This record gives sequence, C-alpha cells and structure tokens, in this order.
Amino acid sequence: MPKSIITVDLNKTGREQTPLPHNRWHPDIPPVASVKPGDEFRIETLDWTGGQIRNDDNASDIRDCDLTPCHHLFGPIDVQGAEPGDMLVVDVLDIGAHQGNEWGYTGIFTTQNGGGFLTDIFPEPRKAIWDFHGIYATSRHIPGLRFAGITHPGLIGTAPSHDLLSKWNKRERALIATDPDRVPPLALPPLETNCILGSLTGDALAQAAREAARTIPPREHGGNCDIKNISRGSRIYFPVYVKGAKLSMGDYHFSQGDGEITFCGAIEMAGWMDLHVDLIKGGCTKYGVEQAMFKTSPVDPHYSDYLVFEGISVGDDGTQYYNDLTVAYRRACLNAINYLTKFGYSREQAYVILSCAPVEGRVAGVVDIPNACVSVALPCEMFEFDIKPNAAGPQKHVDSSKADLARCS
Ligand code: ZN
Repeated sequence: MPKSIITVDLNKTGREQTPLPHNRWHPDIPPVASVKPGDEFRIETLDWTGGQIRNDDNASDIRDCDLTPCHHLFGPIDVQGAEPGDMLVVDVLDIGAHQGNEWGYTGIFTTQNGGGFLTDIFPEPRKAIWDFHGIYATSRHIPGLRFAGITHPGLIGTAPSHDLLSKWNKRERALIATDPDRVPPLALPPLETNCILGSLTGDALAQAAREAARTIPPREHGGNCDIKNISRGSRIYFPVYVKGAKLSMGDYHFSQGDGEITFCGAIEMAGWMDLHVDLIKGGCTKYGVEQAMFKTSPVDPHYSDYLVFEGISVGDDGTQYYNDLTVAYRRACLNAINYLTKFGYSREQAYVILSCAPVEGRVAGVVDIPNACVSVALPCEMFEFDIKPNAAGPQKHVDSSKADLARCS
C-alpha cells in the first residue's frame, strides 16, 4: 500500500484539517507535499462538501448545504522537475472509501442552491444514501437495484498559470454578464466568502481570493470533469502550466452515470486514491495538447445487456430545435425516467438512478438536420427484475410509497 502523503480526519470539517485543503484554483497556493516522477503515493480526501451530508433519512442537509466552501480539494502536490509545457502523467492505481466509512450519497439540489440538469421538473431537495459492499452499491432509498460502481475522482487537475486564470475569469464573467440575475446562475465568479487557499494567509490570501477560480466547471487543466471512466486503472495526461505542476484532487465518486444529471449526481464519498506520477518533458508542446486527456482502464464492470433510450432535439412542448444536444439529452433522460416509473419507481428515484448508476450517454448523430440524436443506456443487469418490454406489460416491482428518496423532515 503506498504511503499516504495527505491524510484527513473525518470527524473534522474542511477548515479544521491539517494541512488545510483548498476550494478554489490559484497558482499561488503553496504545495503541501512533494513527489518525484516515478513515485507512488496515497491521497485521502473528504467528500466534496467537506462532511456536510449525513448518513440519515432527512434531506435537510442537502437543502441547507453551503456551496461556498465547495469543492474541497487536497493538494497541491509539487512534482519535482515539472515545468510549463510538460505533460504530467498520472496513473489512478486504485481508489476506495475510508475503512469503516463505506457509504455515500446522491442529492437532488434545489433550484436556488445548485439546481441540476432537470431542475425545472425536480426543484425539491432529495437524498439517497448508498451502502458499499466491495465493488457493489445498494440503497435503502431505491429498492430493486444493485450495481458495480465505476469508482473515480470527480475532480483532479493541475494549477493554472496566472495567464490562464485570468483567461478563465474573463470569459466566464462575459457569459454571466449576458444574464446576471439568472437562477441558477450561468457561471460562478470568484467569491471571497469561505475561500480556503491552503496555507496562504494575510494579504496574499486576500489578493488571491479575489481572483481564484471556482471549482465547479471542468477547464483545460482537467478539474471537475466528472468523467466516470477516469476510473481505477486509467492514466491521465495533464498540461503543466506552473513549476511543479501543483496537482490537486477531491470529490471522489463511488459511481456515476454519464451526465451526472442531478448535479450532486454521483455517489459522493470520502476516500483514498493511490497514484503514480511521471513526466513527459515538453510533452504538451510536442503533441500540441492544450486540454487534459486520458487513457481508459483495462478494468470496468462488465455490463453487456443495455436498454437504450433515444432522444432528439425536439422540446417538451414540441418546439423544433436545430441540432441541440442539450435538448436531445433532456428528452432521452425524460423518456427513461417515464419508463422506469412504470415499474413503481417515483420520478425522483428514476432521476437519481440515471444520474449515479453506470449509465452510458452517447452522441449518436449531429448531422441529421434538424434533429441531434443521443442515447442513454441503462444496464438491465443492475435491476432485480426484467425491465425490457414484453406482452404482459410492466409489473410494479417497487412500491415507492414504502421506500423513496429522503425528503426534508
Ligand atoms: Zn462529486
């Protein structure tokens, strides 16, 4: 087992950890550890909210979750010899939950507090708690379901340079300016409230907090990509923008479906990840790479029998859109949600299943005007009953009046 170079105390909040995490991106955050190319090491983390969500049957913690200190990131790690233009090669050797803490959660956040892909239909807070059984997850809030997780870090990336950071701020502020009062907002500008930047203090902290980037969007350096296939056994290639690369990570996911549609839509967990790092000197310059990329794992859950829902770029009200993938993805998700309710699931349960189970989302076509076509594939094997259509029609296998997602109580 590789040595932990960052450890956490699950009984303490993000702000009480030693060393302090960080919850914005900024090039001046001092490294908390240093490694050499070829090293293997373990990084422990809290969940993305820093322990705000409880293992209980009440969604008030989802409703009241403070997003200003999120995500909690652990690092930065200095990689000796890394310089701008290099390619940082990171192997995800293994990843899991802390021993004795084998559980996670999925949340539907309110429209005013995070929202979600279908927040206009699902504006109310809900929570599902998941229990981990080795590689499998089950939930007392969603019966009839058991699946193997594709466990991965939702968030991992290198530090931006000052130049890159100012590009991010400029382009995101320009977008916000097009509709500054929108709920949920179009993007999140820097915010000094609850900003933690590791060991930065005083004037340096105050200055950096005014410009440090929020962690919600993925960007060129990786960041919050929420790509489920960056799983154990995969290899990630990051651009290096600053001396030492300054690698940070957090927001580990036991499982997630493509799209992570409920916003807090993975099975979120606190945990550990074992990594191996290497450097390709001048690699990004040589390959012309300006965006993080990765190689998939040789190990994945082996699902082969999928029921695949299609969606086209025609709105809920029948409006024809031109090749709009977002509209098409919404329709595919709603088609799957409507279908799952025929087996007794509540609409909220179906929304969460699509969000956190090993669901495959694909772009089928973007050239067949006017309809973009996407697909959302559900592994049939994860249900305890047959979900395929047959002549007898759907049976009610689940009673959501007896077991449903947690609400506020
Ligand atoms: Zn997450």
